[in-house]
Amino acid sequence: MTLNLAQSWQDALDKVRTWARLNSPWLIHYNSGSCNGCDIEILATLTPRYDVERLGVKLQGSPRHADVLICTGPVTRQSKDRLRRIYEQMPEPKFVIAVGSCAISGGAFQGCYNVIGHIDEVIPVDVYVPGCPPRPEAIIDGVVKLLQKIGKQ
Ligand code: SF4
Repeated sequence: MTLNLAQSWQDALDKVRTWARLNSPWLIHYNSGSCNGCDIEILATLTPRYDVERLGVKLQGSPRHADVLICTGPVTRQSKDRLRRIYEQMPEPKFVIAVGSCAISGGAFQGCYNVIGHIDEVIPVDVYVPGCPPRPEAIIDGVVKLLQKIGKQ
Protein backbone atom coordinates (compact mmCIF):
# COMPACT_ATOMS: atom_id res chain seq x y z
CA MET A 1 0.00 0.00 0.00
CA THR A 2 2.77 2.45 1.04
CA LEU A 3 4.81 1.39 -1.96
CA ASN A 4 1.86 2.04 -4.31
CA LEU A 5 1.33 5.48 -2.77
CA ALA A 6 5.04 6.34 -3.15
CA GLN A 7 4.95 5.14 -6.75
CA SER A 8 1.88 7.22 -7.60
CA TRP A 9 3.51 10.30 -6.00
CA GLN A 10 6.62 9.65 -8.07
CA ASP A 11 4.54 9.30 -11.26
CA ALA A 12 2.67 12.53 -10.50
CA LEU A 13 5.96 14.33 -9.85
CA ASP A 14 7.41 13.01 -13.13
CA LYS A 15 4.34 14.28 -14.99
CA VAL A 16 4.70 17.75 -13.46
CA ARG A 17 8.41 17.81 -14.33
CA THR A 18 7.72 16.80 -17.94
CA TRP A 19 4.95 19.42 -18.18
CA ALA A 20 7.32 22.13 -16.85
CA ARG A 21 10.11 21.03 -19.18
CA LEU A 22 7.82 21.07 -22.22
CA ASN A 23 6.41 24.49 -21.37
CA SER A 24 9.64 26.17 -20.36
CA PRO A 25 12.87 24.44 -21.45
CA TRP A 26 16.02 26.11 -20.12
CA LEU A 27 18.92 26.20 -22.55
CA ILE A 28 22.63 26.59 -22.20
CA HIS A 29 24.68 27.57 -25.24
CA TYR A 30 28.22 26.38 -25.90
CA ASN A 31 30.48 27.30 -28.82
CA SER A 32 32.96 24.45 -29.26
CA GLY A 33 34.90 26.13 -32.08
CA SER A 34 32.48 27.90 -34.42
CA CYS A 35 33.24 31.00 -36.50
CA ASN A 36 30.51 32.84 -34.48
CA GLY A 37 28.05 32.88 -37.39
CA CYS A 38 25.78 30.29 -35.76
CA ASP A 39 26.14 32.01 -32.37
CA ILE A 40 24.91 35.31 -33.79
CA GLU A 41 21.83 33.50 -35.14
CA ILE A 42 21.19 31.98 -31.71
CA LEU A 43 21.42 35.48 -30.18
CA ALA A 44 19.02 36.77 -32.84
CA THR A 45 16.60 33.99 -31.84
CA LEU A 46 16.59 35.42 -28.30
CA THR A 47 16.07 39.05 -29.37
CA PRO A 48 12.61 40.70 -29.43
CA ARG A 49 12.26 40.15 -33.19
CA TYR A 50 11.99 36.37 -32.81
CA ASP A 51 11.34 36.43 -29.06
CA VAL A 52 11.78 32.77 -28.26
CA GLU A 53 10.95 33.53 -24.60
CA ARG A 54 7.30 33.79 -25.63
CA LEU A 55 7.52 29.99 -26.05
CA GLY A 56 8.93 29.69 -22.54
CA VAL A 57 12.50 29.11 -23.75
CA LYS A 58 15.04 30.67 -21.40
CA LEU A 59 18.82 30.99 -21.75
CA GLN A 60 20.71 29.76 -18.67
CA GLY A 61 24.23 30.49 -17.51
CA SER A 62 24.76 27.32 -15.52
CA PRO A 63 24.72 23.74 -16.88
CA ARG A 64 23.36 22.59 -13.51
CA HIS A 65 20.07 24.40 -14.22
CA ALA A 66 19.76 23.62 -17.93
CA ASP A 67 17.61 21.02 -19.71
CA VAL A 68 19.03 21.53 -23.20
CA LEU A 69 22.60 22.09 -24.40
CA ILE A 70 22.65 23.98 -27.68
CA CYS A 71 26.03 23.55 -29.42
CA THR A 72 27.63 25.34 -32.32
CA GLY A 73 30.79 24.69 -34.29
CA PRO A 74 33.10 21.75 -34.78
CA VAL A 75 34.82 20.33 -31.71
CA THR A 76 38.37 21.56 -31.31
CA ARG A 77 41.05 19.80 -29.27
CA GLN A 78 40.85 22.62 -26.73
CA SER A 79 37.06 22.52 -26.31
CA LYS A 80 36.47 18.74 -26.27
CA ASP A 81 36.92 18.24 -22.52
CA ARG A 82 34.94 21.40 -21.69
CA LEU A 83 32.05 20.23 -23.87
CA ARG A 84 31.99 16.84 -22.13
CA ARG A 85 32.25 18.46 -18.68
CA ILE A 86 29.33 20.84 -19.38
CA TYR A 87 27.23 17.89 -20.57
CA GLU A 88 28.11 15.83 -17.49
CA GLN A 89 27.17 18.71 -15.16
CA MET A 90 23.63 18.92 -16.56
CA PRO A 91 20.92 17.09 -14.57
CA GLU A 92 19.04 14.13 -16.11
CA PRO A 93 17.09 14.05 -18.35
CA LYS A 94 19.21 16.23 -20.62
CA PHE A 95 19.06 16.95 -24.32
CA VAL A 96 21.41 18.31 -26.99
CA ILE A 97 20.73 20.33 -30.13
CA ALA A 98 23.57 20.65 -32.68
CA VAL A 99 23.23 23.91 -34.61
CA GLY A 100 24.97 24.42 -37.97
CA SER A 101 26.86 22.31 -40.49
CA CYS A 102 30.06 22.45 -38.46
CA ALA A 103 28.33 21.03 -35.37
CA ILE A 104 26.78 18.27 -37.49
CA SER A 105 29.73 17.26 -39.68
CA GLY A 106 32.70 19.53 -39.02
CA GLY A 107 31.60 21.63 -42.02
CA ALA A 108 34.11 24.17 -43.26
CA PHE A 109 36.58 23.14 -40.56
CA GLN A 110 36.83 19.45 -41.48
CA GLY A 111 40.44 18.32 -41.61
CA CYS A 112 41.84 21.31 -39.71
CA TYR A 113 44.79 20.39 -37.47
CA ASN A 114 42.99 21.60 -34.33
CA VAL A 115 39.58 20.00 -35.04
CA ILE A 116 38.79 16.53 -33.72
CA GLY A 117 35.34 16.22 -35.32
CA HIS A 118 31.69 17.04 -34.71
CA ILE A 119 29.46 17.21 -31.64
CA ASP A 120 28.05 13.67 -31.71
CA GLU A 121 31.55 12.24 -31.63
CA VAL A 122 31.85 13.63 -28.08
CA ILE A 123 28.28 13.70 -26.64
CA PRO A 124 24.91 12.29 -27.84
CA VAL A 125 22.82 14.67 -29.98
CA ASP A 126 18.99 14.63 -30.04
CA VAL A 127 18.23 17.17 -32.78
CA TYR A 128 20.31 18.49 -35.70
CA VAL A 129 19.69 21.94 -37.20
CA PRO A 130 21.51 22.16 -40.57
CA GLY A 131 22.61 25.38 -42.28
CA CYS A 132 25.62 27.66 -42.48
CA PRO A 133 24.44 29.40 -40.46
CA PRO A 134 20.85 28.26 -39.87
CA ARG A 135 18.33 31.09 -39.60
CA PRO A 136 16.51 31.78 -36.30
CA GLU A 137 13.35 30.16 -37.73
CA ALA A 138 15.31 26.92 -38.24
CA ILE A 139 16.68 27.08 -34.69
CA ILE A 140 13.17 27.61 -33.28
CA ASP A 141 12.01 24.68 -35.43
CA GLY A 142 14.78 22.54 -33.90
CA VAL A 143 13.66 23.45 -30.37
CA VAL A 144 10.02 22.63 -31.25
CA LYS A 145 11.09 19.26 -32.73
CA LEU A 146 12.97 18.47 -29.52
CA LEU A 147 9.92 19.38 -27.39
CA GLN A 148 7.72 17.13 -29.57
CA LYS A 149 10.24 14.32 -29.12
CA ILE A 150 10.26 14.81 -25.33
CA GLY A 151 6.43 14.92 -25.32
CA LYS A 152 6.26 11.54 -27.15
CA GLN A 153 8.70 9.95 -24.69
S1 SF4 B 1 28.03 26.31 -39.82
FE1 SF4 B 1 28.81 28.13 -40.93
S2 SF4 B 1 28.26 29.85 -39.61
FE2 SF4 B 1 28.12 28.00 -38.35
S3 SF4 B 1 30.12 27.81 -37.39
FE3 SF4 B 1 30.19 26.62 -39.28
S4 SF4 B 1 31.05 28.03 -40.81
FE4 SF4 B 1 30.37 29.28 -39.07
